[in-house]
Parts: sequence; structure tokens; C-alpha cells
Amino acid sequence: MTFDTSSVHAFQSHFDGDIILPESPEYESASTVFMAKGAPAIVVRPRTDVAVAESVKFAKEHTLVISVRSGGHSGAGHSTNDSGIIIDLMHLNKVEVIDTAKNTVRIEGGAHWGPTADQLQKLGLAISSGDTNTVGVGGLATAGGIGWMVRKYGLTIDSLVGATVVTASGEILQASKTTNPDLFWGIRGGGGNFGIVTSFEFEAHPIGEVYAGSIVYDFAERGEILKKWRDYMRTASEDLSTMIMPMPSMPAFGGQPAALVLLACYASDNQEEATKVIAALKDFGTVLSDDIQKKPYAEVLEDAHPPQGFQVLVNDALISDFSDELIDTIVKNDTQMLQIRSVGGAMNRVSKDATAFAHRASEALIIAPVFMSPAASQSEIDSALEPWRAIAKFGQGAYINFFNEWTSVESTAAYPPATFNKLVALKRQYDPENIFHRNYNIAPDSELR
Ligand SMILES: Cc1cc2nc3c(=O)[nH]c(=O)nc-3n(C[C@H](O)[C@H](O)[C@H](O)COP(=O)(O)OP(=O)(O)OC[C@H]3O[C@@H](n4cnc5c(N)ncnc54)[C@H](O)[C@@H]3O)c2cc1C
Repeated sequence: MTFDTSSVHAFQSHFDGDIILPESPEYESASTVFMAKGAPAIVVRPRTDVAVAESVKFAKEHTLVISVRSGGHSGAGHSTNDSGIIIDLMHLNKVEVIDTAKNTVRIEGGAHWGPTADQLQKLGLAISSGDTNTVGVGGLATAGGIGWMVRKYGLTIDSLVGATVVTASGEILQASKTTNPDLFWGIRGGGGNFGIVTSFEFEAHPIGEVYAGSIVYDFAERGEILKKWRDYMRTASEDLSTMIMPMPSMPAFGGQPAALVLLACYASDNQEEATKVIAALKDFGTVLSDDIQKKPYAEVLEDAHPPQGFQVLVNDALISDFSDELIDTIVKNDTQMLQIRSVGGAMNRVSKDATAFAHRASEALIIAPVFMSPAASQSEIDSALEPWRAIAKFGQGAYINFFNEWTSVESTAAYPPATFNKLVALKRQYDPENIFHRNYNIAPDSELR
């Protein structure tokens, strides 16, 4: 869409924020996100809730497709588009304590988890988010948030106590267990379907230093080690969250030797207990190297870089029983890497209908990135995904945020019928015209299941 520049000028005259048009020097970086490059008609960077609401109204007036950008890490590239508008929340990145007694913190919707963790660390606090510094608070904290303290404190959304949301009508609403509780339910697992969250209120947790790092085992022992890992995690202290990654030798990683890598975070500074836990983890099999050490929690989060020269197809499955049969299937189908995260603990104790993230009774999340040449044909993609399909059969459901496709297959995996139907009802109420559809979309005209 091309603009009548006078409408942009009129908007700019009262808009509290930046406006970036294709001729602006920042246009290229403003329209490029982690997994995609777009060509939007306009990028706006509001500085206030009111400016976010004005951006939504401007988009509607000009019938522009809306992308909402927080950290820009959407696996599906939802936070950019062609010919539409990006509402980029980069200026809304404040982190502040609003109740010292309860450790309640307000974090704006465009903050990133790395700088957020750094600021909370100075206060002796932390929130279980994800594993990556540059992932945005907005995209992760509306979908679930499976991070380094998931077994101790649950999903990121389980620490959420309130939010400010700009809805499709341009209203600025509060959402919590007592104010607009239906909206509060929907923004905890329903992604960006119901509006733009300009700030989140979390109850943070007192955390200082933790024990974290990696252990690399002999890949040849992966079947036995995966069983020992499963058995150990079933009764391990909830202070411990781990992920274990069978990594065959792959061109995407420069053909490095195959390895089985365990990443661990023991979220406590109790040295005696940590020493026992680390010894138990090292006892799973032949250790080739290890570097678990005491560090501030904020240093556990790492930087990530988009893979160059590959397209990445990402899928995931939540597993209720990480059975021997599943482990054997993983071992037989290990042409690509897998990231297997321990979940459970506090995440399991939240009832399945308390939030829009329903698959609570899970003990593992398997994430399967498949690295393909950008020129791969559909039949090459289909055959590369075959091993994953064999593994995915063991899933009881899925987490929306590790999908780069969103068809009825993925939405059925993510949302059981009762959750899906409630999301559709909420979408009809808050966004009947589906203006927020660049997301894991719940269309208001969906057939109920
Ligand atoms: C390298 C990498 C590591 C990851 N690690 C983890 C992890 O450890 N744990 C985990 O749970 N997930 C993880 N993810 C998945 C991640 O949660 C999603 O990709 C998420 O959408 C990224 O959030 P973002 O704000 O960076 O994304 P963006 O691309 O900015 O936003 C994605 C979508 O989220 C919605 N959205 C964003 N901000 C808002 C807002 N303020 N209000 C309403 N809706 C909004 C919009 O629909 C938007 O299109 C990872 C992804 C990557 C690429």
C-alpha cells in the first residue's frame, strides 16, 4: 500500500513515537526480524500506551495488516510483513518494581529478556523466561514461556498477575484475575490474538546465583543416557531444569562431531546440594567435557544468531510419558538435532483450564528444528520431516511458540477443544474483525471443535 503522505504527516504531528518509512535509513533493520525480512509500508515505534492505541486506529483506518514486534524472534516471522504496518514496541522497555513486599515488577511489552534479567538481578530477583537474551517479553509472555526455572516456578505466564492491553477497538484495558479475567486468561497462552500488551505485571522470585552450564556425553551412549536422564528428572529437585540435545553431525553446524549435550540450571546457591546434583548428572554416561559453575542467573541466558544460509522448520511436542519406546524412536530417527526440555514440577500443578496453555501434564517438551537449504523442494522437505513425524506421534500436545507453520494440525495440537472454543469466543468478543491475525491465529469465524 502506498500512503497519501499527508495522512502520515497528520498522524506524525500528534504521535508520540517514531515513524519509519521505506526511504528512512533505519527501514531495513526495522523491517527485518530474526527469521524473516519484510517490506512493510510503515513501521511505527510508539512510546506510550496511548500511542500504541493510536497506531492500532491508524492501521484500521488505512486497512493495513498489523504485525506486532517485541523481540522479533517469531519463528513464523509474524512480527514483520509486506505492505502493512509494524507496531514495534522497542521504546516500551522499562522494568520497574511496583510492590517491594510482593516482588511485583512491571515490565513493558517491548523489553527483551536479557536486559530484563540483568535489571532484576540487581534487585536479587528473577523470572523464569526462556534461554535467550534477545527474545522479547511480549511474544514469550503471551504464549507460555518455558525457561530455566520452569520446574521451580512454572511457565512465565504462571508468574503473571496483571497486564495492560490495547485491544482491537483501541481501548486500553487492565487484565488480571479480578479485572477482565477472561482477557487475562486469553493472554496467558493465546499469544497476540486479543490485543497488544503494553506492560506485564509479574511476581518475580528471589534468586541470586545459580549453578548452570553444560555436560557433553558420548553420542554413542545416547539411548541409555536419555533413559537415565528421564528417570533422574522424574524425582529430581524442582530447583533443577535441564535440556538434553542429541546432536548428530550436521552441515548446519559445520559438520562438527556428533554429541549428546545436556544444559542444566540448578536454581539455588546451595553448594552442597548443587554438588550432589552435578555429580548425579555426570554419572549418566561417559562425559567428554563439562563446565557447570556458579553464576548470576542473568548470565544463564545466552545470545542466539539466526542460521545463515538455511531455512529452519521448527516443530515441537509436549510429552506426558517420555517412554522407552519414544527414546528408541528418537535414537532410530536422529538425522537432525533435537532439544528435549524437562518440564513438570510447578508447571504441572497449574490446572489445565486456569490459562490458555492447557497441556500441563507433561514431563518433556521436544523441539525439532530441521535445517534445510532455502532452495529445498517440497518433497525434500517432506522427507526431511519424516523422522520428526515418527517422534511427534508420541506428543499429547504442543506449545505454540516453537512452530513456524500454523495450520489446523498445529492449532489442534496446541489447544484441546475446550481451550480452543474458549479462545474463539474470546476472539469474537475482543477482535471480531481479526485485525490481530499475524500470529498463531484464532480466527473469530473458526468452527468450534
Ligand atoms: C533463538 C530462540 C530461542 C527461543 N527460546 C525460547 C525459550 O527458551 N522458551 C520459550 O518459551 N520460547 C522460546 N523461543 C520462542 C519464543 O518464545 C517465540 O519465538 C516468541 O514469539 C518470541 O517473542 P518475541 O517478542 O521475540 O517475538 P516477536 O517476533 O516480536 O513477536 C512474536 C509475536 O508475538 C506477539 N507479540 C509480541 N509482543 C506482543 C505484545 N506486547 N502483546 C501482544 N502480542 C505480542 C505477536 O503476535 C507477534 O507477532 C525462542 C525463539 C528463538 C528464535
